[in-house]
Amino acid sequence: MGTAPPPCSFCGRPSWFGPFGRVFVCEACPRRIGALADHAAVSAVANIWAVTRPPARPDKADKPPPPRHIDIEEVFRFFQAGLEAGVRPDDSLAHADLAQAYKEMGLNSDALREAAIALDRITSPEVVRTALRVLLTAPLPKPGGLSELRRRLRT
Ligand SMILES: [Zn+2]
Repeated sequence: MGTAPPPCSFCGRPSWFGPFGRVFVCEACPRRIGALADHAAVSAVANIWAVTRPPARPDKADKPPPPRHIDIEEVFRFFQAGLEAGVRPDDSLAHADLAQAYKEMGLNSDALREAAIALDRITSPEVVRTALRVLLTAPLPKPGGLSELRRRLRT
């Protein structure tokens, strides 16, 4: 007999993925986490993830982003546009990898958006692992953010 997997940190069912830090995740929760991350308003996710502007997908945005006033950010935006242009819409692993890249660049809002897209179009366990690693490990979750995420998934 094998050892039972640790329970999902969010719902208590047997986990399929993890650990991410100390967090384990079942088969069902990645999509729920992704759906929660896919919010248009910062206020909807700001208690969970360290984001400062809307993580909404560009095609869902209802208004243009505020003007940027720092040159280095313009450079980043330009870089991002190039990265995203190279991503096929159906390539969920590419979105997950892009989320990881944004996270490493400190672009948390973009990392959150790309991880949400990846979890909306799961094509392999690697997609889930990569996207969850982005969403559930530092520095994306705020202190107490994972507890808040657990609470939100319960409601
Ligand atoms: Zn679960």
